[in-house]
Amino acid sequence: MAVFYDTHAHLDYPDYAADIVDVIERAKTAGITKIISIGTDLASSRRAIQLAERFENVFAVVGWHPSNADEAPEDIRAELRELARHPKVVALGETGFDYHRLPSGKPEFTAADDARYKQKQAAIFQQHLEVAAEAGLNCVIHQRGDALADTLALMQPFIGKVRGVFHCFSSDVAAMQKILATGSIVSFTGIATFKNGQNVRDVIAATPLGQFMLETDCPYLAPVPYRGKRCEPAYVKEISEVVAQVKGCSLEELSKATCATAKVFFSKLG
Ligand SMILES: [Zn+2]
Ligand SMILES: [Zn+2]
Repeated sequence: MAVFYDTHAHLDYPDYAADIVDVIERAKTAGITKIISIGTDLASSRRAIQLAERFENVFAVVGWHPSNADEAPEDIRAELRELARHPKVVALGETGFDYHRLPSGKPEFTAADDARYKQKQAAIFQQHLEVAAEAGLNCVIHQRGDALADTLALMQPFIGKVRGVFHCFSSDVAAMQKILATGSIVSFTGIATFKNGQNVRDVIAATPLGQFMLETDCPYLAPVPYRGKRCEPAYVKEISEVVAQVKGCSLEELSKATCATAKVFFSKLG
């Protein structure tokens, strides 16, 4: 059986509190042999590490999600440094820019609030990159809304030191090429299986093997035929089948390429 990794899961979310053991077991049965649980703030990152300590095939990424940036302290570098030392912490993140929902979407806020919010996201993002560079790790990048130029600009001074995986990639071929040109890579979710996911399938077709990974971003984005239900790592299997079809390669080739890419990107994955 072709094996795959779920390189982006939120196993610490309450969605899995009742049946985490079954979720991990179903992933194994489906051939998903490694799962990376992604932190969204310090408490969530600590929970991700606890899961990595409890389950042999689970690894952790520690960071503070840009959508939660307003709740972050001014400086989280000391905590990130400390957490990144853990042997099963394989990257920093998820971090980046999310301009999808800006404060000015609500009547009580103005453009000045947007600017302040973006500034806070930038400060937190920058701290992840600094700690990643010190620790010799890469970053899991969350980029949503019209934020690609700002994301690449902030990462520019770190080229050659820190690479990013632009997770849940659903932009276009031109954006993908800009990202790959900087040495970063992308990863694809269950959106690839959606009826209205043709734009993502076009990007997958254009992304060379060795430059992308697979993920669920669970509990979100369950692939067809589970669309709309709670997602879980086992469903990388359904994603891999569609991606192999789009790439015109065998599941074995896709397995080899995506797992090798993940082992290089997440150097402590083992
Ligand atoms: Zn994300
Ligand atoms: Zn995520």
